[in-house]
Amino acid sequence: MEVIYAGTTRLECRQGDIADQPDIDAIVNAANSQLLSGSGVAGAIHDAAGTGLAEECREFAPIATGEAVITSGHNLPNSHVIHCLGPVYGRDEPADTLLGDCYRHALHLADRHRLRSIAFPAISTGMFSYPPEAAARHALKAVIAACGELHHIELIRFVLFSESDLRIYEELFDAYRGSC
Ligand code: ADP
Repeated sequence: MEVIYAGTTRLECRQGDIADQPDIDAIVNAANSQLLSGSGVAGAIHDAAGTGLAEECREFAPIATGEAVITSGHNLPNSHVIHCLGPVYGRDEPADTLLGDCYRHALHLADRHRLRSIAFPAISTGMFSYPPEAAARHALKAVIAACGELHHIELIRFVLFSESDLRIYEELFDAYRGSC
């Protein structure tokens, strides 16, 4: 795990499962437009949350690319789930802006709900094929830019499934630290 600070907000990156972050208020779902369960992150979150999550999601679907909606966490250890629809790489443009919108909207939504901590997976880098290095760069840039606008969030965690994705974040964290 590595840590950097953007103002007073703590940013962490660690390897793990987004559905197993019990100390976090809101976990973020790399959702599909219909907010249904599926493979990857959405499957893991819906499996752990139980069928109540799918029922609650029904009233919000469909969502647009870059949009974020909030539900309760149901059987998850987290009070809330924030569902974001990332861009499909090569189809939804401008991909970098739309990806940044996901992170920004999720942070503002969590902050409006007075939540203190939030965990993100690497949105769009699975089924949606966004190259992981570029996705990490845009994600971190959007998050650091938003930190100055947040009032309640104290901890932002990036949860990476693979060791190679964790390395990408660790290198970006090192570069950010070096630039401060
Ligand atoms: P998208 O459709 O937005 O690309 P995916 O769920 O297919 O979303 O994948 C996004 C990223 O999350 C990928 O890097 C994938 O390896 C990773 N991932 C898959 N399952 C989990 C999980 N349980 N926890 C954290 N990350 C996960």
